[in-house]
Amino acid sequence: MDKKPSVAIIGAGLAGLTCGTALQGMVDNIRIFEKSIFAGGRIGRFRAGEYEFNHGAQYFTVNNSLFWNIVSAWQSEGVVRPWDGWIVELQKGQIINSDMSTQRFVGVPRMLEIVENLARRCDLVTSVNIAELEHQESGGWRLFNQRGDYQGLFDIVIVATAAHQAAELCRPVKRISKAAANVDMTVCWSAMFAFERRLDLPYDAAFVLDSPLSWISRYQYAEPGHDVDCWVLHATPEWSQQYVASFRGRVMNALLDAFWEATDIAVAKPLSASVHCWKHAQPINPIGEDSLFDEAKALGACGDWCTAPRIEGAVLSGFSMADRVMKYVRKKYA
Ligand SMILES: Cc1cc2nc3c(=O)[nH]c(=O)nc-3n(C[C@H](O)[C@H](O)[C@H](O)COP(=O)(O)OP(=O)(O)OC[C@H]3O[C@@H](n4cnc5c(N)ncnc54)[C@H](O)[C@@H]3O)c2cc1C
Repeated sequence: MDKKPSVAIIGAGLAGLTCGTALQGMVDNIRIFEKSIFAGGRIGRFRAGEYEFNHGAQYFTVNNSLFWNIVSAWQSEGVVRPWDGWIVELQKGQIINSDMSTQRFVGVPRMLEIVENLARRCDLVTSVNIAELEHQESGGWRLFNQRGDYQGLFDIVIVATAAHQAAELCRPVKRISKAAANVDMTVCWSAMFAFERRLDLPYDAAFVLDSPLSWISRYQYAEPGHDVDCWVLHATPEWSQQYVASFRGRVMNALLDAFWEATDIAVAKPLSASVHCWKHAQPINPIGEDSLFDEAKALGACGDWCTAPRIEGAVLSGFSMADRVMKYVRKKYA
């Protein structure tokens, strides 16, 4: 191959980073643009003063054989480990079920390590919000940020954002933009509390029934010297949608009350309390196509909204995207 094309990937979540690392060697210059100050997207990491929380994805499961191979490699590198926490189902303070059969994995020492491990191998530019893709008649794309500043010319562009952002950015290719625009996403309020002393809860996490909460989990990553008990709470999609425009203080208090009701233990005053609203948390109706690519304009899109609303879905979509780009590059640049 004489000339290797350049590729821009927009979004440094798991899909974008998986695609970027899989393409290495195949293309010349792969630059990943991320609007946040760090990579990770909905894997999430939240800092509240001296406390840190994993407020997005909590763990992952594995169903697909390709994903098994990837997870085995991550495990050998020490990036993930099986989660042996005790996970239960809670109803009004009662444990009604104990889930020991599902194999779950977590990042080591925290979920974000999964993306940081990939990001270290990439040419990643953070704090750049790509707002416009301008297709060139001679081929390729010029990228601009939200202030209109030019960010470079690339032969191929991959949009690896959540669906609503992909719908906007992919407007030059109607088929991709329309597919992304049809995807609905759930809302999720996350609440994060640090308690001075360990709460009297024997389990590590629980799926919560009949409550504004769907999930509660003791955060497993603590910096040396910290003995606080940190909990992450996720509200149900229905409750989150209902309170999407509410004041943060109101949401925080309502979710803390729901926590005491769900666990039925003595109330304690948190040392630290925070909330975050994921306005586009998980796709409800993924398109059912692993990734999308338009060969005529060399524009692609990937993410969990293509496949399945979880980490596995994002990784498989990123891989599928890389595979499509490789086939295109072999054909066009051979
Ligand atoms: C609260 C919550 C809990 C979850 N729990 C689990 C769980 O327990 N297990 C599980 O498997 N999955 C879970 N998920 C789902 C999982 O987090 C996602 O499926 C996965 O992280 C999606 O990855 P992605 O790369 O497709 O998208 P994202 O992670 O959303 O990545 C897209 C990236 O694009 C960036 N971006 C967007 N627009 C632009 C732009 N214009 N310019 C530059 N960058 C841009 C974003 O900042 C983001 O970093 C959860 C999600 C949420 C929100």
